[in-house]
Amino acid sequence: MLLRNALLATLDPPDSPRVASGDLRIEGGTITERAPGLAARPDEETIELTGAPVLPGLVNAHTHLYSALARGMPGPKEPPRGFLEILERVWWRLDRALDEEAVALSGLAGAIDAALSGVTLVVDHHASPSAIPGSLDALRRAVEEVGLRSVLCYEVTDRNGPEGRDLGLEESRRFLAGGPTPLTRGMVGGHASFTLSEETMERLGALVDETGAPFHIHVAEDTADVEDCWERYDTGLVQRLGGHGLLRPSTILAHGVHLEASELDVAQSRGCWLAHNPRSNMNNDVGYASTDAFRQAALGTDGMDGDILAEARVCFLRMREAGRDDAMEATLHLLTGGHRLAAALFERPFGTLDAGAPADLVVLDYPSPTPLHDGNLAGHLLFGIDRSHVRSVMVEGRWVVLDRSVVTVDAEAVFARAREAAPRLWRRMTELAPTRGPAG
Ligand SMILES: [Zn+2]
Repeated sequence: MLLRNALLATLDPPDSPRVASGDLRIEGGTITERAPGLAARPDEETIELTGAPVLPGLVNAHTHLYSALARGMPGPKEPPRGFLEILERVWWRLDRALDEEAVALSGLAGAIDAALSGVTLVVDHHASPSAIPGSLDALRRAVEEVGLRSVLCYEVTDRNGPEGRDLGLEESRRFLAGGPTPLTRGMVGGHASFTLSEETMERLGALVDETGAPFHIHVAEDTADVEDCWERYDTGLVQRLGGHGLLRPSTILAHGVHLEASELDVAQSRGCWLAHNPRSNMNNDVGYASTDAFRQAALGTDGMDGDILAEARVCFLRMREAGRDDAMEATLHLLTGGHRLAAALFERPFGTLDAGAPADLVVLDYPSPTPLHDGNLAGHLLFGIDRSHVRSVMVEGRWVVLDRSVVTVDAEAVFARAREAAPRLWRRMTELAPTRGPAG
């Protein structure tokens, strides 16, 4: 396939984004040539872009597809006070109410939402305590059906008893044993330190050893996680994870809102990644995560939606409010951090549109009211371009969205099924007994 007359816009390095006219030749899931004025070969499909901006496909470094059916659900009877009550009354009810059908529909609806936002890869942290076995395969099938890449894990926890814990570990082992597919990778997942016993942490460390898979966990999202770790284990969160061999290259620490600078230094020195989720942190009122000193960091939506451009805009504004003069460059660094993380997980050069890069890209329909060039791409991304400008999305050389329509699945049929399943899910949530909470 030949894409002609594109305005190729790459964001890395964040201090000097590149915007240049050119054509792309795509063969077998890879960009094989990039140059202006490429001649079409006989029988080659040629698509004329007439100067439309093209970005590398965007990456969501931390999300929960299982929350896709939560949009618009009724709130708990008693409004939650604080982070733990938000988990107990909302999210730990939602995940326990998920059945196989809801997991699959959440995966489909969440992946469609991501694709329509220009996201080509989602790093997911999954929980469905009442439907654990096979849940990662159900998610993989859903996301692959939509045509996106994903990195999946099951969030192992002790909050549903030893049986739930063992099923989570077994699902992780089973899924990882299946090996990667062209679009999907696996990780080992843990919920968060405050719902993981020493024995479970040990088993997670052993599973990471056994499989060689990277680890993905929530860390210091709220002060409750920090306090629990000191109270029960007389140590800090990063030290606890390190003690179980869980601080490794490509380990993803989500949030890190309340980590000390010294803990961030240790995590960074071990090659860990920080997933920054500013909208979720603001929504849960857990505090502001300063990412200033952490270079291996990327943006996530934490299940709010699939829209990483919206996340980037809020990230930028929150940084400005916190007084950061380099907010624009820092936000682009986080947005492109997703590409660097993807490159580490898939061992392919994501984030460029050069020959050899995966053919994961976003074509925008962005009639800019002002000039768009190298020097002001960041300004257009943070003040102008949003998901409404996403015209087409390609993953591994295959169109997922074309001219604003999802072409891999019948999105309207999926949403129609989801609209029927969601109220059933919400009803099951209200019928569940209260969760026991982290302290048992
Ligand atoms: Zn999360």
